[in-house]
Amino acid sequence: MSQPRAAVVGGGIAGLTAAWELARSGAAVELFEATDRLGGSIAPVALAGIKADAGAEAFATRTPAVRDFLSELGLAERIVSPNPAGAWLQLPELAAPLPATGIMGIPGDPEAADVLALLGPEAARRAAEDLTAEMTWTPGQAPTLGEVVADRMGSAVVDRLVAPITTGVHSAGPHQLSIRTAHPKLYDRMLEEGSLARAVAGIRASAPAGSAVQSLTGGMNTLVTALQEQLAELGAQVHLNHSLRHSDSHFLWEGDYDVVVPALDAAQAAQLIGGDEQPVQQTPPAAQTGTGVALVSLLVHAPELDSHPRGTGMLVAPQVTDIRAKAMTHISAKWSWAAEALQENLGSSHHLLRLSYGRAGETGGLGFDSTDEQLHAAALTDLPWLTGTSISPERVLDHTVVRWRRGAASEAARSLRESLATSAQTGTRIAVVGESYAGTGLAQIIPDAREVIQSLLK
Ligand SMILES: Cc1cc2nc3c(=O)[nH]c(=O)nc-3n(C[C@H](O)[C@H](O)[C@H](O)COP(=O)(O)OP(=O)(O)OC[C@H]3O[C@@H](n4cnc5c(N)ncnc54)[C@H](O)[C@@H]3O)c2cc1C
Repeated sequence: MSQPRAAVVGGGIAGLTAAWELARSGAAVELFEATDRLGGSIAPVALAGIKADAGAEAFATRTPAVRDFLSELGLAERIVSPNPAGAWLQLPELAAPLPATGIMGIPGDPEAADVLALLGPEAARRAAEDLTAEMTWTPGQAPTLGEVVADRMGSAVVDRLVAPITTGVHSAGPHQLSIRTAHPKLYDRMLEEGSLARAVAGIRASAPAGSAVQSLTGGMNTLVTALQEQLAELGAQVHLNHSLRHSDSHFLWEGDYDVVVPALDAAQAAQLIGGDEQPVQQTPPAAQTGTGVALVSLLVHAPELDSHPRGTGMLVAPQVTDIRAKAMTHISAKWSWAAEALQENLGSSHHLLRLSYGRAGETGGLGFDSTDEQLHAAALTDLPWLTGTSISPERVLDHTVVRWRRGAASEAARSLRESLATSAQTGTRIAVVGESYAGTGLAQIIPDAREVIQSLLK
């Protein structure tokens, strides 16, 4: 076959990965991105000239997939691990480090001292019942994370340890999140082990040595820059500010392209491919259930933060009423490259922090729909509470607010993949990639997009 022509629609990490795979296999690639920049949920933010991540800031290391990809891109030397100190948890009456042996807040050792410190003796005793209680869950069931944890370890573990993590990190309450979506192996492992705690401990023990996440010097936004450069070297054409809809995408299906890769969420991909007449155009209900978050990044001059009083950040339990943020990342405590950049450019005792607003399922709280002024004011009030210091507002030298609408991956969206593919028009091969199908996170999306394109090209 002469050089195949490929169109990739959407320039997030899924589209960029797909475009790179296609371009290096020799295809003539055109990538169409609706906005004025590539990267989607991976984006830079600059405070007083210091660049950090506005969206995704790390990748999970439970498989080597992202590291391998970064190595193939020549970025291996820039891979960095976070400060192992870890994050803290804010409960209504105390703040303490998150249990060292947990997965999503579920303790691998319910009798450990750090678990006892956060739960108290009675709830810790209830959690330990999991180690001996008969297993009543069965393989055919599809429970939520909240149901399983409450049953095995008690509701205090759900409310005090798990909810702060799922609402803070995954934008979903424990009772909204299927256990398989929360962690693909946890449920089956629990059935094998006869205990949730032993499943957590076993999964942690079999995880690769080292930190659970890694990033790149300069942040994950530098991956987008690297991909953009390599795509240009491979001759791919990138069209920014170019939003494709079914109505104006007739050229995609009329023989111009041999391969078309919508790298959009499932609802938009269905719209693009199906148009108004096709059954696949129906928006999958799960694709509409995303939630929004607002992130306030702060640059502060505060010697009291030099000792990293809350480790690499803080997750806030939903029951805490004094703090409006759901989480804080102390970016310059977590990533040494950020601390070094601050030191080099601004001098000592400068810190970067990122506060998140917008808890899943919460009404009336601050979040995506709040104004910049409301969010900034809340961040200034929350900062002393979150850091356990008395930092005053005038020590905040710069701030930015960024909003993200987060989509939820789902079984329903994933099952669309096949029907979307079979709706291909004459001669054009179609493959859909991205978060809707692979699940949230770079460790899911990157290997999925690579596999999809590689099998398409076979
Ligand atoms: C605040 C935040 C923090 C996160 N942190 C992490 C983290 O630390 N680690 C991690 O692994 N994951 C993290 N994630 C999740 C991760 O960023 C996403 O799962 C991933 O980036 C999604 O990639 P994608 O390419 O599937 O979609 P997107 O990034 O959403 O990209 C889709 C692209 O398609 C474009 N587009 C949409 N419609 C059209 C159209 N009609 N025509 C052309 N272009 C179109 C969009 O503008 C966008 O650029 C985070 C997400 C957010 C929002």
